[in-house]
Amino acid sequence: MEVQVDGYPKSAKEAREQGAKQYFSGKPCPAGHVGLRYASTQSCLQCLRQHQDKFLSTEVGRASIRASQERYYHANKEARHENVRRWRKSNPERARWLAGSTKRLRKRATTKYGQKGVKELYEMARKLGLSVDHIVPLNHPRVCGLHNIYNLQLLPLEENMKKRNHFEEEY
Ligand SMILES: [Zn+2]
Repeated sequence: MEVQVDGYPKSAKEAREQGAKQYFSGKPCPAGHVGLRYASTQSCLQCLRQHQDKFLSTEVGRASIRASQERYYHANKEARHENVRRWRKSNPERARWLAGSTKRLRKRATTKYGQKGVKELYEMARKLGLSVDHIVPLNHPRVCGLHNIYNLQLLPLEENMKKRNHFEEEY
C-alpha cells in the first residue's frame, strides 16, 4: 500500500508539538508496514485497518454495522417524518394529487398473479419502519414496473429516495 508521507511530522513527539494526529517515521511497524502512525498511541494505521477489516468480516462485526445503521435510522426517524408532515401541510393540493395518482398508478400496475404476500409485506414494512419499494418504478416513462410481489422490496426510506433518482439517471 502506498502512503503519501510528504509534510508529515517525523515522530510522535513532533506531531504532538504541531498538533498533528499522524506522523511518519519511516521505520517499519512490528508487522513490517512502513506507513503512517497515530501520534496518540503510536499505532500503525495499516495494522489498525487490518484489525478493523478482520473484525468487520466476522458475524459479530457485521452485527455491529447493522446495529449502528439501525441506531442512525431510528435517531433520524422523527426528523424525517416531521419533514414530510411539513411539506404536506404547505403543499396540501400537491400532496392530495400525489396520493391519488399513486393509488391510480398502483391500480393500473397491479397484476392478477403475484399478489400473494403483498399485504403481508406492507404490514412488515410498517412494523419495521421501512418503506416498500417498487424495484422497477411504476411511474417511469420508459419502463413499466408492476405492482406485485416480484417487483417489491423493503428499503429504509432514504435508500428508497436514492434509488429512485438513480434509476431515472440510468434510463
Ligand atoms: Zn503495521
